[in-house]
Amino acid sequence: MKVVGLCGGIGAGKSTVARLLAERGAVVVDVDALGRSVLAHDEVRHAVVAEFGDGVLDADGGIDRAALAREVFSCEGRLTDLEAISHPAIDREIARHLEALASDPPDLVVLDMAVLVESDLGKLSDGRGYTEVVVVEAHADVRLERLVARGMAADDARARMAAQATDAERRAVADHVLVNDGDEADLAERVDELIPLLMA
Ligand code: ATP
Repeated sequence: MKVVGLCGGIGAGKSTVARLLAERGAVVVDVDALGRSVLAHDEVRHAVVAEFGDGVLDADGGIDRAALAREVFSCEGRLTDLEAISHPAIDREIARHLEALASDPPDLVVLDMAVLVESDLGKLSDGRGYTEVVVVEAHADVRLERLVARGMAADDARARMAAQATDAERRAVADHVLVNDGDEADLAERVDELIPLLMA
């Protein structure tokens, strides 16, 4: 069972590549969704409240992600504080998913994750995490255009792009780069070429 990490800047086409890989038989683990779901785990919720205060709770006692985001981005270093709590929990969830697949292992498992470059998330301590990295890349203008077409305000899209790792930083950790500047049929061809390389 080959496990790869899939990342890309916002709007580059990471989710589209994940879907194309899934259509070709890969099992995709949505690590960003795991990041949201672990906030509902009691031990994570308690640790987040101990670190960031009651102000991050909603009326039902769950984590209010918008309030948490405000705290996290209010001052430098707070994201690291949150990740120190959430990343071990997310890694445990990734390990659980991989264990569940072990009885009938697929050829390819894709960890679909936005923050691969920025952290050690998904590099499980026992070596069962991802062993290769696929980066999806697209020109900044193309990404902006796609994000605006998806309904995001252009300024918001630019700010999010600027806050992420750069293409150079992503390329530095990439084993495979998929350039997604064309249409979806082009991308599908590139994915078809990638699969044998991943399985080699
Ligand atoms: P995010 O980080 O916001 O989830 P992402 O990198 O996962 O972004 P996608 O959601 O795959 O990016 O793509 C962003 C938008 O661009 C989507 O609306 C998607 O349908 C569209 N898109 C992706 N690739 C192409 C392509 N090659 N041609 C046309 N549209 C595309």
